[in-house]
Amino acid sequence: MSHDPADLYARHQAVLPSWLSLYYERPLELTHGEGRHVWDAEGNRYLDFFGGILTTMTAHALPEVTKAVSEQAGRILHTSTLYLSRPMVELAERIVALSGIPDARVFFTTSGTEANDAALLLATTHRRSNQILAMRNSYHGRSFSTVGITGNQSWSPTSLSPLQTLYVHGGVRSRGPYAGLSDAAYIAACVADLEDMLQQTAGGIAALIAEPVQGVGGFTMPPDGLYAAFREVLARHGILWISDEVQTGWGRTGDHFWGWQAHDGNGPPDLLTFAKGIGNGMSVGGVVARAQVMNSLSANSISTFGGSPVTMAAGLANLNYLLEHDLQGNARRVGGLLIERLRAVSAGIELVREVRGRGLMIGIELVRPGTDERSPEAATLVVEAARERGLLVGKGGQGGASLRIAPPMTLTVAEAEEGAELLADALRSVQGMTAAS
Ligand code: PMP
Repeated sequence: MSHDPADLYARHQAVLPSWLSLYYERPLELTHGEGRHVWDAEGNRYLDFFGGILTTMTAHALPEVTKAVSEQAGRILHTSTLYLSRPMVELAERIVALSGIPDARVFFTTSGTEANDAALLLATTHRRSNQILAMRNSYHGRSFSTVGITGNQSWSPTSLSPLQTLYVHGGVRSRGPYAGLSDAAYIAACVADLEDMLQQTAGGIAALIAEPVQGVGGFTMPPDGLYAAFREVLARHGILWISDEVQTGWGRTGDHFWGWQAHDGNGPPDLLTFAKGIGNGMSVGGVVARAQVMNSLSANSISTFGGSPVTMAAGLANLNYLLEHDLQGNARRVGGLLIERLRAVSAGIELVREVRGRGLMIGIELVRPGTDERSPEAATLVVEAARERGLLVGKGGQGGASLRIAPPMTLTVAEAEEGAELLADALRSVQGMTAAS
């Protein structure tokens, strides 16, 4: 059997769906990783600034996680929520304590999609309503219910939904009628829009779901205080607040352990969902909610793989490492420095409209030089050019015109500086190509 990545690509296309889109003209086959680096099947080494879309939270092949996983796998792999499981109870206790949600309960899933799906089931059942408020430009998953609340056309393949969804302004304001407003004026405009929407809607709404920093949406941030202002309105209507922390949880945003804390004021959300990084590559997801909301399901439920001992062991080891090494502090320090460096190196590059971010979640929006038009073409070219220079970055955002940077949270200052230089070089090369064409 051939070990050529090109042959593997042909086989991938022959048996997998066309909508599983791959990065790069010559798609990459990763074979191993260590720290902040990964290697491909041809032996090339890359500095990983995307960490499997934030699944590598601490580091690739973190020895503490590898050891915990292999020890647990050697002991018992039996998975079912029908029996008591020590790793599941232990990780749930840790998450309950960290969540800030009073009288919290945790339900473990195997993905962010399933976590949000469970949150929607809980919120709609608790409120006896299938109406959901979601943010424009949001992403919440790929299941039937979560694509229905995803406010991003390119990730929402069906207009059919078991939920009735209304989209709220707030995540992005860089263009359109709200561009240029001060934070206070923008918040007031979004709140007025929300109030208006609630007045026009017959019946009660179950919940509002929001990402504190929009992930797939290009690492765009609502101004601090927006969600606190929303919550005052929602509280008057008894509407629940779901914070989708699949990308923003565990200190990645630097200043806060959870993304919702940037909006503080009204305390923790009613429901919080998590996934991605906590398992450092193992499938750990879940929803945290007040007991009153969590226990609103009257029938039994079961998850065969949610909370399995091996994934819980990974989550515990990864969380311990994160806390013992203050990786939130590292995300704040190194992320802050990286944002500064990226701003400095891209200063003269016309292609770059904006470098924005919080901790180790950094978005760079690209435009056609000399215009304010988003340039998805440039984003694709820069992602390719970065790869050629040994750097992996992501892309996304409105119109697919933003680069996304979210390295493992153990990133060092030297690696941040190296990555910024590599990316600047990639940007300059694409700037040269677009200027010439
Ligand atoms: N919510 C957010 C904010 C996400 O970014 C994602 C994944 N990109 C999901 C939910 C869905 O997670 P998963 O891919 O694990 O199903």
